[in-house]
Amino acid sequence: MDKTKILIIEDEEAIADLLAYGLGREGFETRTAANGADGLREVRQFQPDLLVLDWMLPDRSGLDICKQVTAQYNLPILMLTARSDITDKILGLEVGADDYITKPFDLREVVVRIRTILRRLAQAQALPVAEDAGPSVISFRNIVISPEERLVTKDGATVELTPKEFDLLMALLGARGKIFTRAELLQSVWGYDFPGDMRTVDTHIQRLRKKLDAAEWITTVFGIGYKIEKRTD
Ligand code: CA
Repeated sequence: MDKTKILIIEDEEAIADLLAYGLGREGFETRTAANGADGLREVRQFQPDLLVLDWMLPDRSGLDICKQVTAQYNLPILMLTARSDITDKILGLEVGADDYITKPFDLREVVVRIRTILRRLAQAQALPVAEDAGPSVISFRNIVISPEERLVTKDGATVELTPKEFDLLMALLGARGKIFTRAELLQSVWGYDFPGDMRTVDTHIQRLRKKLDAAEWITTVFGIGYKIEKRTD
């Protein structure tokens, strides 16, 4: 089996080297980039399985890179932030980062976080196939989803969803009619509890509704959470 590839975008050489060394010792194949432009090029060329992304880079913000990467690739991102400002972390998670770690960090913690993200991703990808051994396409109302390709079409036209929006849709569709609390959705889509970021769920739901014209069927259950209406016909 090929090694899992991790791209590290970090301008502080000592930190980049430490991560590359530590992750290499854990059996990952690593590559480092010291700025955003090189990093984006390596995302295309190296085709990593996971991105470790520093939030403060000389040429571009981690936020920008995060947005750009998640819009084009289904690539999990662990953000590195030197700041303890909670707004940064919430912002990062909203634009598609999977987790964050604050500097200074313990290398072992980074490894644990990375393994958690990769495990979660593997489970998410395995799920639809296990549930449906037939053609793994889900069709619901005017929406058709191919979970393996993470492709969504509405009335035959492709809808661009971010990885998190896609996961959220899949979570809700996994149990149509069930009311999901925001905490449950956070847990299943983002994978851990992050105090005070229920807003993240709300903004993702709003975007999903907009992109899928789903105001009618992704409904808010006041004071509780969200659900997908079961089709009545
Ligand atoms: Ca930096």
